[in-house]
Amino acid sequence: MGRRSAHALQSRPQRVCVLGATGSVGASTLDVIGLHPGKYEVFALSGYSRLAALEKLCVRHRPQYVVIPRAEDQESFQRRLVEAGLDTMVLAGADSLDFVASHQDVDTVVAAIVGSAGLSSTLSAVRAGKKILLANKEALVMSGALFMQLVRESGATIMPIDSEHNAIFQCLPFRPHDGLSAVGVRRIILTASGGPLRNTPAQLLREVTVEQACAHPTWSMGRKISVDSATLMNKGLELIEACWLFNAAPSKVEVVIHPQSVVHSLVDYVDGSMLAHLGNPDMRVPISHALAWPQRIESGVATLDLLKVARLDFESPDEDRFPCLRLAREAATAGGSAPAILNAANEVAVQAFLSGHVAFTQIADIVDCTLQHVAEVRVRTLEQVIEADAVARREATRWLKAIS
Ligand code: NDP
Ligand code: MG
Repeated sequence: MGRRSAHALQSRPQRVCVLGATGSVGASTLDVIGLHPGKYEVFALSGYSRLAALEKLCVRHRPQYVVIPRAEDQESFQRRLVEAGLDTMVLAGADSLDFVASHQDVDTVVAAIVGSAGLSSTLSAVRAGKKILLANKEALVMSGALFMQLVRESGATIMPIDSEHNAIFQCLPFRPHDGLSAVGVRRIILTASGGPLRNTPAQLLREVTVEQACAHPTWSMGRKISVDSATLMNKGLELIEACWLFNAAPSKVEVVIHPQSVVHSLVDYVDGSMLAHLGNPDMRVPISHALAWPQRIESGVATLDLLKVARLDFESPDEDRFPCLRLAREAATAGGSAPAILNAANEVAVQAFLSGHVAFTQIADIVDCTLQHVAEVRVRTLEQVIEADAVARREATRWLKAIS
């Protein structure tokens, strides 16, 4: 399991750095950690805009470090923590995220910052050979080849906590990056709830409001991923994520709509066996699995009541109404910087939708136009990834202004 010996980890609590602690995944992680005080210790927390919530988390978990975005807030935040009787040190700025993510005293980094803002700190944790609970799929989508190369070089352990990828991990018999066909895997099947607009007719999609797009039927999540779920871009990003995590060609990853969100994904084997992971839709399940792996711990989530679930439905995704899934598959197949371009354009478009500047259906239009007008290039270094992201953002912003 990476560079650290399992024995050394078992003899003292695992020290955990939770990046994006104020978010939805951050909250679920800290809930699980709170259930197991002897096993896990919070080493560092980070937040961005919700500083009052971050302060409460510091009081509850007493980390050694807390990272906030702006240096001008550092002194007052530090003063409040001292007044609360804490010796937590307050750090500020993106470099400080890199510092805590790679700190020698950290065993496990939970990468739960949303979007490209999480790229640098996630890669810092990878370079430092940490065990990483990966929620921030955008980091892997943007920098896939570089990310996986750094994993191989550093011996970092990547534990997917995106529920679908965690499910696949649990249905595979081996460490994920060893190759699929060697163990008889025919294909990976990612399930998707279909989001809140699954049954919305095409002609009504243009009028969808932010509240409607964010009203996810089965999962409670941050706003960006909620919109991604409504457009099916989330599943597209997850398709790319699965290709990198499990060393799979895009043609080996299929998507099925499963509205109940009880089957979290499946692995189809050449002998006709199909293994599925089932559970209530609650992020504490994959987070607990990844924290404790290869052991199991309580997550605080109730067992699945099969009689209450009663039936499991599956249907094909409608790529005419939800073209983002097709765009993501095309970007995965094109390779190079195409996934980074897709991701950057999507982040720009989703932000514009959330701010009321474009219609729901224009998210896919902006991503499509950007992909058509920015040539994909080979990306091997962090600088090249950042450059591809910046070029795509400029182009997406240009389309945004043209159509809004
Ligand atoms: P949230 O919006 O709830 O939380 C995002 C976190 O990132 C918050 O702590 C936020 O701080 C922080 N953040 C936002 N912008 C920045 C920035 N520029 N720099 C540093 N930190 C920042 O999102 P989720 O928890 O829902 O999602 C987090 C990640 O996990 C995403 O990549 C998502 O795709 C992935 N994921 C989420 C799932 C879920 O169930 N929620 C499931 C699977 C994957 P603050 O709140 O203080 O502003
Ligand atoms: Mg998911």
